[in-house]
Amino acid sequence: MSKSKSPESVKVVVRCRPMNEKERATKFERVVTVDVKLGQIIVRNPRLASAHEHPKVFTFDSVYDSNSKQIDLYDETFRQLVDSVLLGFNGTIFAYGQTGTGKTYTMEGVRNDPERRGVIPNSFEHIFTHISRSQNQQYLVRASYLEIYQEEIRDLISKDQSHRLELKERPDTGVYVKDLSSFVTKSAAEIERVMILGNQNRSVGSTNMNEHSSRSHAIFVITVECSELGVDGENHIRVGKLNLVDLAGSERQAKTGAQGERLKEATKINLSLSALGNVISALVDGRSSHIPYRDSKLTRLLQDSLGGNARTVMVANIGPACYNVEETLTTLRYSNRAKNIRNKPRINEDPKDALLREFQEQIARLKEQLERRSGKKKKRRPGRRAGEGGHEEDLEDGETDDEEEGEGEEEEGEGGDQGDYWREQQEKLEGERKAIMEDHSLVAEEKLRLLKEKEKKMEDLKKEKEVGEMLSAKVKAMESKLLVGGKNIVDHTNEQQRILEQKRHEIAEQKRREREMQQQVENRDEETLELKETYSSLQQEVDIKTKKLKKLFAKLQAVKAEIQDVQEAHIKERQDLEQSQNELTRELKLKHLIIENFIPMEEKNKIVSRAFFDEEDDHWKVKAITRLEDNHQMMCRPVSAVGYRRPLSQYARVAMVMRSEARYKAENLLKLEMDLPERTTRDYEEPAIAPNVAAALEAALRDEDEIQVDASGFHSSLGLTGGASPASAGGSLRKPKSGRSKTGKKSSAPTSPFSPSSPASPLYPQSRGLVPK
Ligand code: ADP
Ligand code: MG
Repeated sequence: MSKSKSPESVKVVVRCRPMNEKERATKFERVVTVDVKLGQIIVRNPRLASAHEHPKVFTFDSVYDSNSKQIDLYDETFRQLVDSVLLGFNGTIFAYGQTGTGKTYTMEGVRNDPERRGVIPNSFEHIFTHISRSQNQQYLVRASYLEIYQEEIRDLISKDQSHRLELKERPDTGVYVKDLSSFVTKSAAEIERVMILGNQNRSVGSTNMNEHSSRSHAIFVITVECSELGVDGENHIRVGKLNLVDLAGSERQAKTGAQGERLKEATKINLSLSALGNVISALVDGRSSHIPYRDSKLTRLLQDSLGGNARTVMVANIGPACYNVEETLTTLRYSNRAKNIRNKPRINEDPKDALLREFQEQIARLKEQLERRSGKKKKRRPGRRAGEGGHEEDLEDGETDDEEEGEGEEEEGEGGDQGDYWREQQEKLEGERKAIMEDHSLVAEEKLRLLKEKEKKMEDLKKEKEVGEMLSAKVKAMESKLLVGGKNIVDHTNEQQRILEQKRHEIAEQKRREREMQQQVENRDEETLELKETYSSLQQEVDIKTKKLKKLFAKLQAVKAEIQDVQEAHIKERQDLEQSQNELTRELKLKHLIIENFIPMEEKNKIVSRAFFDEEDDHWKVKAITRLEDNHQMMCRPVSAVGYRRPLSQYARVAMVMRSEARYKAENLLKLEMDLPERTTRDYEEPAIAPNVAAALEAALRDEDEIQVDASGFHSSLGLTGGASPASAGGSLRKPKSGRSKTGKKSSAPTSPFSPSSPASPLYPQSRGLVPK
């Protein structure tokens, strides 16, 4: 059901940002020249002397210099893509480049400044303006916002931010994010709120927004579904999906000096980016049959945008200053390669999962339900009226008229009609109730019964009314989500603005054509040069050919230099990969070490036997523990033993209930004391100390005490020492005492005042005073 189109290339544009304050202050040299007319970027590498003669030239679909305006970028490059999304094509816009070169500026821009709004807000405006001008079409627009950070997908607009989403694949629709929330939006302001909400959640991950954004990929997805009556008289639905991608910074990790955790993170970011590079290479190469989409989440998710069913524009952002020249060249080479990717976009017509179809069907169902209800009520009405002598025909006519009225006004009209009907019914019932109350001919019982009946009827009526109202409210809510030009959504731009838009569009087209012509002229020039030349003399021929030779030689040199550059870039990339490989190997070794030394062999084997690789999730997983396989019988209870520990006969079961004796009780009845093992240990006993050792120890301890006491008031303690020490320990005491005092006094006094031979030496107090407290 979808129109096939011939393959078309990925469109690549390059945007160079202005020098920033810092670069201007440091007076960095500008090495990038942008030739807007020719669509060329010229880069001089100041580190290579030859570069001054042979600057590198890259040609792209279009290029933008530092003065480029957001709106020009949109009109010339993105408007066409968004238009085709409105037609039912898939579209993708990537921003690629080093951190701080303007990816987010290009994609989002400055929200509050209409002049500096980026692609995303401009596309909101564009989409809803388009819808407001449409005729006989119904639209449904919804938005999702997700982020890939360290190979994990996070839904930026869901309430639960801790949840990680998974990628799934279906043969008919391809890869999708499971459980990704999406908001149905009715206006540019509404969809902008989705973006703001997402951005807030994005910055939660880090205090420094740029730090975070340079490490994560953000994808804003707008799905536009459009239903239109086809030539075959059937409603057809076209679904266009627009992916707006702000990629992580492409700088090499070696330059950022990332280590440890940061390096691991960088490896993962680079994993997605290098996988993107590999996919691009494989697509462009033409020889490789395998495209490694599955290597990263990003490439899997954007599979359609790269060589598949989508139109793709890639914006390569670069900086102008010399210190970034390597990165700039890498970005340009990368983008140059991407130019050659060929996509096969086609209109997605009547896909199975169109939400619009679901909405339409549900609205139809609800309306039918409402109609059935109103049919019921109207049938009841003529019935009653018939009894009163009403005109059935008239009423039936009225009903059909009602239905054939224009759709827009109808709801109100029907609502009013319904209101009247309910009021009428209620009044009628009320009147009847009153009549019963006042009717004195009825018996009291009969009266009560009739009254009850009426009350019940009134209640039913109320309920029915509520259900009816709920249904019509639901229909209204659903219908308001389906956008129809000039009705749900009104175009506020006036005629002049529209003309202005048209003109801008024309100018953009003109510019594009001019650029293409210029590029063609350049190419032709070189080709025709050879054909035109006729030589009048041999000398002239030699001259001209020498000139040409020189020119070609220069070209050859340029190509050689390019080859060398590419090789160098390749080596650098390889070094980066090797570095991260080393890091990973080291970690692997550590883990191995831990496993080998600290995890028992059998535990390890158990885990190894349970581990398996989940292809779908791209992850290793561990199977749940069940013993089903190894012992099937163990797992099953005997059939007869439902609820009991062992099979029971019917007799036992009855006896269990009837008798109190223990025999038939199914549970354990014996309560046993725990069988404690005999004690094999003894209480701790202090080791016995030989009396002389004990005495020596005691004396030594006491001596310490005395020194303390001594220091506070030497007169009294002096007397005490003299009396106590010989009494308690005798000769054995002397040794430690004198030894201690000797070492303690070495510096202060050569003769020992502690020695018992001089118990009351007048020197003693002085020397004691020198002992530090
Ligand atoms: P990235 O998202 O690539 O890391 P940003 O978009 O955050 O980079 O841009 C870094 C800074 O440069 C921002 O302050 C932004 O306003 C400024 N900038 C980038 N491109 C332009 C441009 N074309 N014109 C003016 N300012 C720009
Ligand atoms: Mg950014």
